[in-house]
Amino acid sequence: MADIPFIDLQKQRSRISGAIDTALARVLEHGRFILGPEVAEFETALARFTGAREVVSCASGTDALTLILMAEGIGPGDLVFVPAFTFVATAEAVAQLGATPYFVDVCEDTFNIDAESLQAAVDAAGGGAHGRPRAIIAVDLFGQPADYPSLQPIAEAAGLCLIADAAQSIGGSLPQGSAGMLGDYTATSFFPAKPLGCYGDGGAVFTDDGDKAEILRSLRMHGEGASKYDTVRIGLNSRLDSFQAAILLQKLSIFADELERRQQIADRYAGLLGDYCTTPVLGKDVSSSWAQYTIRSPHRDAIVSACDRHGIPTAIYYPKPMSRMGGYQAFPSVPGGSPVAEQLCREVVSLPMHPYLSEQVQTKIATAVIDAVAQAEKGNAA
Ligand SMILES: *Cc1c(COP(=O)(O)O)cnc(C)c1O
Repeated sequence: MADIPFIDLQKQRSRISGAIDTALARVLEHGRFILGPEVAEFETALARFTGAREVVSCASGTDALTLILMAEGIGPGDLVFVPAFTFVATAEAVAQLGATPYFVDVCEDTFNIDAESLQAAVDAAGGGAHGRPRAIIAVDLFGQPADYPSLQPIAEAAGLCLIADAAQSIGGSLPQGSAGMLGDYTATSFFPAKPLGCYGDGGAVFTDDGDKAEILRSLRMHGEGASKYDTVRIGLNSRLDSFQAAILLQKLSIFADELERRQQIADRYAGLLGDYCTTPVLGKDVSSSWAQYTIRSPHRDAIVSACDRHGIPTAIYYPKPMSRMGGYQAFPSVPGGSPVAEQLCREVVSLPMHPYLSEQVQTKIATAVIDAVAQAEKGNAA
C-alpha cells in the first residue's frame, strides 16, 4: 500500500485539476491579482453557502480574528475569554493586540468551550483585576460548532461580543444555523489542511452587520476611507489574493459532496472503533465538517506508536492547554484552571480524515488502533 496521507489533497486536486488550471489561467490573463473579480465572487458564494449576510475575505484565519478584534476596538486593558483547548491563533490574536486572553475550560464530550466554566470565568473576571471583559471567542473544534445557544445569554448578560472561531468548522451546523452565522462575528481560515482550504494562506470574517462589514473592508486595506489614499483608521494589509479565491470557488463547488463523504467516513470510524476508544460525540442535530477525527483513549501513546509502525500518520491536537504554552502562562485562567483540557491533552489523537479516505485504508487504520488498545489492556491486566 502506498504511503497513507493524513489529509489527501492530491486526490481532491485530481478531481478538479482541469477547472483549477482554467481558473488560474483566467487570473493570469486579467492580472488583477489583489481583490480581483474572483474575490468578490467567492465572498458572495460563501455568504450564500453559509447563510451569513456579509463575508469579508482576508489573508489568514489569524488575521480574520485580529480584524474582528480591531473592528471592536479591543486592545490593551481589555479581556477576551478563550478556550484553553485550541490552536494557538485563538489566543494569539488577542495577545498581539495587547489585550489579555482569559482561559476557560472545555466540555469533555464536544471539546468546545464549556458554558459553565465560561460563566465562572465571567463572574471571576467581573472585579476587573485582569482587565475589562469585552468578548468571548468560542472555537468550533475539529469541525463541530460550539454550543452558541448556551453562550449567547452569557455574552448578552455580561455585555460581551460573541466571536466564533470557525477556522475548522465551515460546513458544520447547529439547528439554529450554519457555521458562519452563529456568532456576532465569525472567523474562518482557508489554510490548505482546513475542510475548505486554498493553496496558500487565506481567511474570512462573517457578520450580519453591514456597518461592521464596511469597517472590516476598510481595516483589511490599511484603514482606507472613501478613496484609496484617504486613511480613516489604523488597519492592516490583509487580503485574500485572486488566485486563492479562484481556487476556493472551484473547491466550494464540490464542498457539499465532500462534507457528505466526511460524514460517511466518520460514521464508519465510529462503527469500527466505538467499542475500543471514545469516538467523537456530536450534540443533538449538530453536524460537523469533520476537520479532524479525534478519538480519546487512556492508551493514546500506544495507539500513536502502533500507527507509526504501520505507516499510519496521526496528530496530537493539542499536546498542551494554551494556558501552559510558552508565552501564554502568565495570562489568567478560570478559578480551578482547566482540568478537562488537561485530561484531553493526555488522551486525544487525531486519525487520518479527508473525503477520499478509502474503506480499505480506513480498515487498516482501525485495525492498528484496535490492536494497540487490546495489547495495552492485556499489559495492564498482566
Ligand atoms: C487554523 C486555525 C486558525 C488560524 O488559521 P490560519 O489561517 O492558519 O491563520 C485559528 N483558529 C483555529 C481553531 C484554527 O484551527
